Amino acid sequence: MKIPPWSYSALECFDTCPKRYYHRYILKEKEPENESNKHGTEVHKALEERVKDKKPLPKPYYMYEKFAKSVEKAGQGGVVMVEYPLAITKDFRPCDFFGADVWGRGKADVVVHKGSKMWIGDWKTGKVREKLFQIQVFAGFLFKLFPEVEEIHGNNIWLQAGKIGDAYSFTREKGEPIIWQDILYKISRIELAARKDSFDPKPSGICGFCYVKTCPHNRG
Ligand code: SF4
Repeated sequence: MKIPPWSYSALECFDTCPKRYYHRYILKEKEPENESNKHGTEVHKALEERVKDKKPLPKPYYMYEKFAKSVEKAGQGGVVMVEYPLAITKDFRPCDFFGADVWGRGKADVVVHKGSKMWIGDWKTGKVREKLFQIQVFAGFLFKLFPEVEEIHGNNIWLQAGKIGDAYSFTREKGEPIIWQDILYKISRIELAARKDSFDPKPSGICGFCYVKTCPHNRG
């Protein structure tokens, strides 16, 4: 069984429930869009246009202006990259996002690059639930794509709560090997499931909202 290119979302999905991963990423079923996904997409687009093109935020999102300004301030003297595509081959070379040789990919909401340092910001539209792994994955990609970068910092930006989340920092020397150890371990679990052709259901609170209606655990 062929595993499609991995991403942070795919690794998280497998951790949450291998069966759900199987439907979403192996069978390529399209997950129906709900109100919260739609809102997230709209907010990301508005912030992308605000930071990249200086287009004013639409009225419902005025309150996020302070975060756009913080990014601008942080970017002074450096390069600000928005919705930045990250794609690498299995031997960690940069590649085309949709290239035939792509092994892993993702998109970083905001990256500020200043010489040997970078900062990653991830817009979050949900309730505050700090997550290190997503920032780790972005940092892993960026260390591979920018060999001159020695230090990466990152924060989740909790829009509804109006606050910047915990600060995470990684160095190339000590942080990067641990990041890739975690990512490779998660990929190896998916590869093992594929070899055994066994993507078991993992019932949890998610079953109440899961789109896999054929699963016996579905409570939606
Ligand atoms: S209903 Fe629950 S166990 Fe079944 S696929 Fe969805 S998340 Fe997994």
